[in-house]
Amino acid sequence: MTTTSNTGEIFGEAGSFSHEPVFHYINGRFQAGQAGRSFETLNPATNQPLAQVAEGLTEDIELAVRAARKAFDEGSWPRLSTSERAQVLMRIAEAIEAHADEIAQLEVYDVGMPITQARSQAARTAENFRFYARVIQNLAGEAYQVGKRFLNYTLYKPVGVAGLIMPWNTPLMLSSWRIAPALAAGNTVVLKPAEWSPLSADLFAHLLDESGLPAGVFNVVHGFGESCGAALVAHPGVNLIAFTGETTTGKTIMASAAATLKRCSVELGGKSPVIVCADADFEQAVDAAVFGIFSLNGERCTAGSRLLIEEGIYHDFVEAVAKRTAAIRVGDPSDPQTELGPLIHPEHLARVQGYIAAGQQEGARLMVGGARPHGLTQGNYLQATLFADVKPGMRIFQEEIFGPVLVAMPFRDEAEAIKLANAVRYGLAAYVWTRDIGRAHRIGQDIEAGMVWLNSQNVRDLRTPFGGVKESGIGHEGGHYAFDFYCNLQTIHMALDRHAIPRFGVE
Ligand code: NAD
Repeated sequence: MTTTSNTGEIFGEAGSFSHEPVFHYINGRFQAGQAGRSFETLNPATNQPLAQVAEGLTEDIELAVRAARKAFDEGSWPRLSTSERAQVLMRIAEAIEAHADEIAQLEVYDVGMPITQARSQAARTAENFRFYARVIQNLAGEAYQVGKRFLNYTLYKPVGVAGLIMPWNTPLMLSSWRIAPALAAGNTVVLKPAEWSPLSADLFAHLLDESGLPAGVFNVVHGFGESCGAALVAHPGVNLIAFTGETTTGKTIMASAAATLKRCSVELGGKSPVIVCADADFEQAVDAAVFGIFSLNGERCTAGSRLLIEEGIYHDFVEAVAKRTAAIRVGDPSDPQTELGPLIHPEHLARVQGYIAAGQQEGARLMVGGARPHGLTQGNYLQATLFADVKPGMRIFQEEIFGPVLVAMPFRDEAEAIKLANAVRYGLAAYVWTRDIGRAHRIGQDIEAGMVWLNSQNVRDLRTPFGGVKESGIGHEGGHYAFDFYCNLQTIHMALDRHAIPRFGVE
């Protein structure tokens, strides 16, 4: 049995790995919860206990917010120059890179992500810190000259204490999207990781602790959403909430945050269309359609989960996708050959299986998968699954399944493709495949989605904004756009000379 409590060696045989108890990280100290309660997490590949985790309650949030508040109101972090903060972020990036193998392996144990994909997530995590170290140094306000009489200028200032509430999918990489810009801007942070995937947040706490962040600047409180997360949202000492998770949770959080008028950035669910026109590069489009849904175990907010195919190639394209789907290697996420690992938790597996049953009941054609793979009796494994001949009214077309389930249907023409793409409540991402470049842009621009990829899988330059429309969220991560959220913009108006002021009250 292999154990760890820090960034040391953590390798062990899959299934036999167990983690040392996980504590909150508050004011630079790892500590148990005030009430002494804890909960257990499971290894998704085996459903064996993985870690015993401190359960945070209101009083733990209180301690963490107090520490973050003090670090913000009185500490050095918000008062450092941007280049000094950038140096710390660079050190964090280097620490992540130095421990990349262990970090990737931890993500495998914690969430069941296949190791090859976890390695790229670890690299991207380091890059996120490095990127924000660069961007913060280039963040500049503007000056407005008003003749020779006035000068006005704008300043970006940190907001205060940032509450970050994270989901269990790709927790390491997604947390870094939030942590890096929040810290770069000079805020202090209280992070509430998802209860099913606490280990990467614990690792962040160790790495950031070793990277020279002053005590109280970064805090982690583990626990459940309705207790620990809700307490963070309600706390009057918290200035903003960055939430990534389900749409229904996002609505609850925004309603609760309204009581203390906190700004919220909510990155929510998706049901993103992949539109394949008859003139598309067939092979590339097949590659992208298959990778777009089955990578990261299908537990991906930008997954291309609805495949819309032009009538003329519908049959051939669906057959080609079916062939590849049936051949996807499902198995031990620690095995570099594995393409699809176990789902995060038995409850989530049951939810995804519920959608497969609903699809069959509603009359969709189950072409591939739908069941537990042979020989994988333990863990939350599910075959890569493809439904064809789906109808827009079906639940599997409308609702986010968040697992390895792809649904396909034909479209007649451009107008119908757009109508179908927009026929859901979500609007996160969309993918369009056609060699007609005008058509690609027309369709792309008419789709109600925050991000559209034309003839491309989900490759995103860190400078571009990330975010959805409709019920997929409010706000943008990425690039300098993140600082619109993590900073207050202040305007200073200054007179350069005496100027006429209406003289009220003069006799
Ligand atoms: P979730 O909404 O169940 O939980 C997310 C986090 O919110 C967890 O930490 C949870 O403990 C906390 N939480 C739950 N109830 C709360 C409450 N009342 N108050 C405060 N906190 C609360 O989501 P999940 O199942 O962990 O994640 C999957 C979802 O996240 C999917 O819908 C997926 O599409 C979405 N997601 C979106 C993006 C994006 O960028 N748009 C990225 C990743 C995941």
